[in-house]
Amino acid sequence: MALTGRPRALAEHAYSPHDAVLRAAAPYVGRRRFLTVTAAAAALAFGTNLPARGAAAARELDAARIGANPFTLGVASGDPLPDSVLLWTRLAPEPFEADGGMGEQRVAVEWEVALDELFFVVVQRGTVEAHAEYNHSVHVDVKGLTPNAHYYYRFRTGTWISPTGRTRTAPLAGVEALSLRLAAVACQAYRDGYYTAYRHLAKEDIDVVFHLGDYLYEYAVNSMGGERRYKDGTLPDVFNRETMTLADYRMRYALYKSDPDLRAAHAAHPFVVTWDDHETENNYAGSHDEKGDPADQFLVRRAGAYRAYWENQPLRAAQLPQGPNARMYRRLQWGTLAQFDILDTRQYRSDQAYGDQPHVPGPESDDPARTITGAAQERWLIDGWRNSNAVWNLMPQQVCFSQRRFDLNAKAKLSMDAWDGYRASRDRITAGAKAAGIKNWMILTGDVHVAYALDVKDDFDDPRSRTLGTEFTCTSIASGKDGEEKPSTWNTYMKANPHMKFFNGKRGYVRVDYAHQQARADFKTVSAISVPGAPLTTAASFVTEAGSPGWKPA
Ligand code: FE
Ligand code: CA
Repeated sequence: MALTGRPRALAEHAYSPHDAVLRAAAPYVGRRRFLTVTAAAAALAFGTNLPARGAAAARELDAARIGANPFTLGVASGDPLPDSVLLWTRLAPEPFEADGGMGEQRVAVEWEVALDELFFVVVQRGTVEAHAEYNHSVHVDVKGLTPNAHYYYRFRTGTWISPTGRTRTAPLAGVEALSLRLAAVACQAYRDGYYTAYRHLAKEDIDVVFHLGDYLYEYAVNSMGGERRYKDGTLPDVFNRETMTLADYRMRYALYKSDPDLRAAHAAHPFVVTWDDHETENNYAGSHDEKGDPADQFLVRRAGAYRAYWENQPLRAAQLPQGPNARMYRRLQWGTLAQFDILDTRQYRSDQAYGDQPHVPGPESDDPARTITGAAQERWLIDGWRNSNAVWNLMPQQVCFSQRRFDLNAKAKLSMDAWDGYRASRDRITAGAKAAGIKNWMILTGDVHVAYALDVKDDFDDPRSRTLGTEFTCTSIASGKDGEEKPSTWNTYMKANPHMKFFNGKRGYVRVDYAHQQARADFKTVSAISVPGAPLTTAASFVTEAGSPGWKPA
């Protein structure tokens, strides 16, 4: 399939003559008129762990009885495949109630996918049931779509119709795709300020957004929303404590999704999400929490956190947690242009070395028995690289891969929570990338709340060693408050790390355009998040040429 050029931004949407032809040829389905196709829908509903249908008619809520808008948390789509995309919503007429105001009954939700924003040309529709057991979340894995195409989608229950989302499918596997434009985001502490960066991102012309973790923070949010300083100070007390239980985590997603800018970004673009620590607990490692609680206790908490994450994200059934375990690492493709190996560096990692304090590497951190990926994910990643024909091999993940010396000493302290604290694990991944001969390795990283452009060196202690690939960190949407262009560590880090080509401490995101010859990264920042409405600027732009890795100013 030929690439049809850049998609139009939502605000600029207008019908082309091509749309008019399709509209004339297709059966007319009036706006706001949904048809129910229950047979097809039954096959699309998730089958895992669901209560049996039929026996529980009394448990089915008459959707007409939903007295207030249940689509308060918006819509989302995710994980685009050539023929499929995952559509998400969650019913919550009372988003700050534990049950979302939905009670214990299941309810039928209709969905529609159309070629146009007004739903004149509906290409698929169906009905799924939203279950109290899943907090009335809805996940529809729409199949049979056209590769490399844009779609609009919406949901309906009773008399309520959801906002419209826009999404797309990936180019056909193995077929040349000419371009890809992604955005990378991470770290959105609600209490640290407004999601202005998302407001700008929602208006961008983007194929897919990668969320690299810290979608929510477990910490208490006071009645003023922290740095948001709501004048009426009316956030409920339930948010003013650390999240511990499934109910706490579910509610916290409702708080985050009450933000209109976050909802706008989800409605505008498909997201590919992976988690870091704060969706569960700061700097946890596998079954080890920060405080050293018994593993069996922490795993109960982790099960609740993982469950709420899945319920509130556009993720397929393959990512549905089983107790405290969930398969978050996965692979997506963009024709032959890009392969995405999306990692989970939290669930399987060894406990941090040296008490998780910045430390000079030593026998404890460098023990080859330690891992940040776990053995199975490491094998999966390297096997996937061996079979990759992609022009760009992208590795969206959580914590800094490249070495970061924190000081100018010959033996400098490094982060024990990042790959620097797991150097044997990093060496195995690097050796795997080299052995597989992958082309154009690029690592997409969150976590650090600042933007870096980093060259991935064969030996980080030798600036003359080969550059194997590139890495960038996408700063944060909100975590770290307004931030500074040059944080206090700027001079030291830039001097101590010659492979660090850029460092900026403002809030924002990174937008990257991939073509066959080069990739261009634009570091987007907002001047402030303590007040809403700040403008967006491009702080810097870098390119890396295909076949000749290393960031250069654009
Ligand atoms: Fe963070
Ligand atoms: Ca983090």
